[in-house]
Amino acid sequence: MLGAHPDDCDQDGGGTAILFAKMGYAVKFVSVTNGDAGHQTMKGSALAKRRFAEAQEAGKRFGVTYDVLSNHDGQLLPTLEVRMQVIKKIREWNADIVIAPRPNDYHPDHRYTGVLVQDAAYMVAVPNVASDVPALTKNPVFLYFQDNFQRPNPFRPDIAIDISDVFAKKIHAMDAHTSQMYEWLPWIGHYLQDVPKNSGEREDWLAKTRAVKITPEVKSSLEKWYGNEKAAQVKQAEAFEICEYGAQPGDEEKKRLFPMLGMK
Ligand SMILES: [Zn+2]
Repeated sequence: MLGAHPDDCDQDGGGTAILFAKMGYAVKFVSVTNGDAGHQTMKGSALAKRRFAEAQEAGKRFGVTYDVLSNHDGQLLPTLEVRMQVIKKIREWNADIVIAPRPNDYHPDHRYTGVLVQDAAYMVAVPNVASDVPALTKNPVFLYFQDNFQRPNPFRPDIAIDISDVFAKKIHAMDAHTSQMYEWLPWIGHYLQDVPKNSGEREDWLAKTRAVKITPEVKSSLEKWYGNEKAAQVKQAEAFEICEYGAQPGDEEKKRLFPMLGMK
């Protein structure tokens, strides 16, 4: 999973990552920037260092490896240089599944992470590009994280995963991003006064603020994959849209790639 900042994959795919890790699959999160702009009082290398340490702790709690690239936060552009970094990351991991934001997000870093991964989606298989890392002999399946943006087209939940059983674990992992969950995001969102002073109450509060409402479209996808009865009991879900670039799996292949689908 690739995100722009060291906490993006966590929110959008953390539950799915936990489920994969529990089944013995290897999951990597990659933050394309180092997060050195995301704070109201800290900045630069001190902030990047703090966020790297938070990401490593979160990775441990999720059961994934967490890479952070050194590109500056708030300044990401879809350049050839960063495209090569992304191609190499996907190749070195020999990824079967690659998940990234859609390129119509509000945040330019998210948007360009989406563009960068789309730009890599064919090139990972081209041997003459970034030839110091061997090209993949198969093309992975590329997917997008869920978002609420409507233009030019709304998110389509091709796959929806029940993460109810691991939601508390996901929140515990996100809790590692202290600088974001309890400082920066509440500050920029004007709800800093709501953050519990007592650290023992923080994870309960985080669970309330980070729960995602299941949209009717996601509900339909859950019904497709889990059946109506099980889908009705799902409390928390993560959904993904299959990108038109890269391998195009049929339903049987989707179940092979996401073995948690239909399991409870
Ligand atoms: Zn972000």
